[in-house]
Amino acid sequence: MKNNFDAIVLGVGSMGSATSYYLASRGYSVLGLEQFDIPHDQGSHAGQSRIIRKAYFEHPDYVPLLERAYENWKEIETKTSSQIYFPTGLLYAGKPNDILIKGVRESAEKYSVKVESLSNAQAKDRFPQFKIPESYEVLFEPDAGFVTPERAVLLYVEQAIQAGAHIQTKEKAISWKKEGEIVTVTTTKETYACKKLIITAGPWASNMIPGFSGQLKVTRQIIAWVNPKVRKDFELGQFPCWLIDDHTQPGMYYGFPILPVGKFGGPIGLKVALHYPGQPTDPDAVNRIPSKNDERDLIRAIEKLLPEGYSSTHVMKTCLYTNTPDENFLLDFLPGYNQQVAIAAGFSGHGFKFVSVVGEIMADLAMNGKTDLPIGFLNAQRFNTSV
Ligand SMILES: Cc1cc2nc3c(=O)[nH]c(=O)nc-3n(C[C@H](O)[C@H](O)[C@H](O)COP(=O)(O)OP(=O)(O)OC[C@H]3O[C@@H](n4cnc5c(N)ncnc54)[C@H](O)[C@@H]3O)c2cc1C
Repeated sequence: MKNNFDAIVLGVGSMGSATSYYLASRGYSVLGLEQFDIPHDQGSHAGQSRIIRKAYFEHPDYVPLLERAYENWKEIETKTSSQIYFPTGLLYAGKPNDILIKGVRESAEKYSVKVESLSNAQAKDRFPQFKIPESYEVLFEPDAGFVTPERAVLLYVEQAIQAGAHIQTKEKAISWKKEGEIVTVTTTKETYACKKLIITAGPWASNMIPGFSGQLKVTRQIIAWVNPKVRKDFELGQFPCWLIDDHTQPGMYYGFPILPVGKFGGPIGLKVALHYPGQPTDPDAVNRIPSKNDERDLIRAIEKLLPEGYSSTHVMKTCLYTNTPDENFLLDFLPGYNQQVAIAAGFSGHGFKFVSVVGEIMADLAMNGKTDLPIGFLNAQRFNTSV
């Protein structure tokens, strides 16, 4: 293998897999560096499923990016004759003035995203598995659902390799530096040179992005897969994805239907978690053993929101969020490096659904110096860094 590339992608997880694919499929010479195997469960992309939704409560500016993400998911599915996106519909519930409900309504209205408003009686009739307080508002987004993270990462990497990318696993980047028109990257094995470096290092990004360590807080997140009392009521096809702000904790609980192992792999069971930054952690020293308290909080939420949803815990796992101060992504050139270094980081626990569009954006940004997609609100300048 030669040591000079048009582009090096540092970190081949969620965002790096799609970025490698978009670069290689446009004919650029690409090196993707991944410190572990592909995929793996040490970062942010493990755990079988990720919610995808368009009526984005976080900020309406994400909706145009999501429209493109849906198109791009379709494209990779068609190209690989595989299914990544599963439209189960998504039930939202919360108080009418919650950010969740107000934000979903605002994005849906602004961009004509299909969202149904359900009365409490309609919700009970259609989704009897839930127990939702009378005072809550219930919305349903039929085209929302989930995507499969490990399968998506593998498909993008497979397609990147077929298009000519070199993907090195178990090779950790230690440092990089800009030397005139080129950027060199030194790993545990070699030193490589490229015209453009794209940093997609997830929870490890702050090690690789000078000046941003204070802006990227890594947190430990707990996910449970449980056995419900009556399994068939919660299986794929019978039960939607959901997101509920029940006001017992900051953040919101969310979950997925039970996915058949033959088609989706493990773990087995009904998956439930809390979307809120957990305990801060060093990504290289994560306590991966969930505590009794972690388990108790999730069981309590399931029993409250899904009365028939819990009989026993099957598996609990940890995963990592990388949070920015405003919980919006960081997609930009790294200031001060003459557009030779681009970063995609700080996905704050809601980035996977965007993988298919972030890959395209990073390829455009790095190689053309710009993207036509509206990413201005995700710029690096909004953080007061020392770069
Ligand atoms: C519990 C949980 C639930 C979530 N639920 C959802 C959801 O429902 N919907 C949604 O849209 N999003 C969700 N997310 C968020 C989403 O999964 C993340 O935003 C996304 O995976 C982040 O991708 P990434 O590429 O930044 O990180 P990763 O996928 O972790 O990739 C970074 C990669 O870089 C590699 N790397 C880092 N440093 C180096 C180095 N020095 N050398 C070589 N390789 C390196 C890492 O090993 C890793 O493979 C969830 C996340 C978690 C943890």
